Amino acid sequence: MAGGEGDCCVVVVGAGAAGTLTASHLVTALSPRYRVVLVDPAGTTGRGTAYSTRDERHLLNVPASGMSAFPRDPEHFFRWVRRHHDAATQPQDFVPRHVYGSYVESLLESAAEFPGNARLERKEHAVTGVERRGDRFVVRLSNGESVVARAVVLATGTRPGTDWAPANIGGHLVADPWTEQLPKGDLLLVGTGLTMVDVVLLLAKRGAADELTDARAALAARFAPQATVVRRQDAHRQRGTTEEGHYLQTTQQWRDERLALYEELIAGEVPDGGSVALLAWGDPGIYDGTVDTVERIAERGNVAISWTVIPGISAPAALTAAHRVTMTRTGRPVAVTPARQVIAGTPTERADLVVMLDGADAHGVDAAPDDATVYWGAYLGTPDEALVSGRVGDVREEILRRRAELRERKGWIMDTYLLRCPPGS
Ligand SMILES: Cc1cc2nc3c(=O)[nH]c(=O)nc-3n(C[C@H](O)[C@H](O)[C@H](O)COP(=O)(O)OP(=O)(O)OC[C@H]3O[C@@H](n4cnc5c(N)ncnc54)[C@H](O)[C@@H]3O)c2cc1C
Repeated sequence: MAGGEGDCCVVVVGAGAAGTLTASHLVTALSPRYRVVLVDPAGTTGRGTAYSTRDERHLLNVPASGMSAFPRDPEHFFRWVRRHHDAATQPQDFVPRHVYGSYVESLLESAAEFPGNARLERKEHAVTGVERRGDRFVVRLSNGESVVARAVVLATGTRPGTDWAPANIGGHLVADPWTEQLPKGDLLLVGTGLTMVDVVLLLAKRGAADELTDARAALAARFAPQATVVRRQDAHRQRGTTEEGHYLQTTQQWRDERLALYEELIAGEVPDGGSVALLAWGDPGIYDGTVDTVERIAERGNVAISWTVIPGISAPAALTAAHRVTMTRTGRPVAVTPARQVIAGTPTERADLVVMLDGADAHGVDAAPDDATVYWGAYLGTPDEALVSGRVGDVREEILRRRAELRERKGWIMDTYLLRCPPGS
């Protein structure tokens, strides 16, 4: 078939970012014998839905260092931005989306200008059909023209639209938040995830427990690769005694310092109008001061924020799943308590206990009744997870020994346990 009609023609349908980049790579890779026909009714090339905007507030959701058109030259877009848009741009900056459209458009223009490359034809029509004819394709255009091609690339994008929305939410749907009036009250954003996060703030624990910070950083790298991860040393926490008043006072002091640190980081590290994620350990609803801290940041108003809480997997949930037991039993309440209250003698006859936050030296299992059943776990949900279960009188020594050994080996320990206490114990 060599030399037949369409033998040296490739049609690319859609001149958004994908179609235009494909056309530009094809034009560069093929010799002048070839013709690349880029078809799209849009009057723009390389912009499509995402990069047609001219609004400077519409930023890329990936930093400049992550948007290169050339996988082997990851800084290509970043260098282009510095040369053609803003010389002060940094690799981690989020530049306006229209700049990316100009970049894609310019790549195709440069590729098409070089005489040693394939020829480019841009047709401003819609493709109405593609038919196979032998080893060729016949591409029909909305103006009645047909193009015979050896290969066809479909790069027609996805139309976000709002057709998916149930009819009965009609008037409440805001299809375009940039041009439509927003209703008063809470808004539900559909179709965002961690990709809406610009910055992840991580406060590193002092000492060996920094491993916990690394785990959060790994999560951010996996699920929010576009976000800048900012690590800072956590505020110093003075260890209080198990005496309730002293404990509460030192905890409050630490939270105040943390609050000031978060305010400083949000003001200094998060771009105007940007999103920030604070990754709590486990579920932010259990024993984690983050919710309280963020609420106070919002109230103080030193940095303007609106905020939301995303649930996580709590240590008790990871514990009961690991032991394949339930936290609750029929007719039996459960209390979640720090170990110092078990040590101080929290009555166990009325409820089973989920015990968290054991102190360095004291352990609630020491104070638990012999005839209670304990489900103990350390480093839950991690590769180092350790589990012990049984009658407290039988496994107490084993738990205390393993806890000491593990703590010695890793330099830190976090454990949680469920105490099922016989009524009256
Ligand atoms: C608001 C928004 C912001 C985004 N921001 C980013 C970002 O910052 N970074 C990122 O990596 N990604 C972003 N994306 C994802 C983005 O969609 C992709 O990066 C990329 O732009 C998709 O390009 P595309 O060419 O596949 O689709 P589109 O841009 O949708 O282009 C498809 C083209 O095909 C044409 N077409 C359709 N049917 C026909 C037909 N029958 N005949 C001829 N032409 C046809 C259309 O006219 C259109 O021009 C964003 C998306 C949206 C919606």
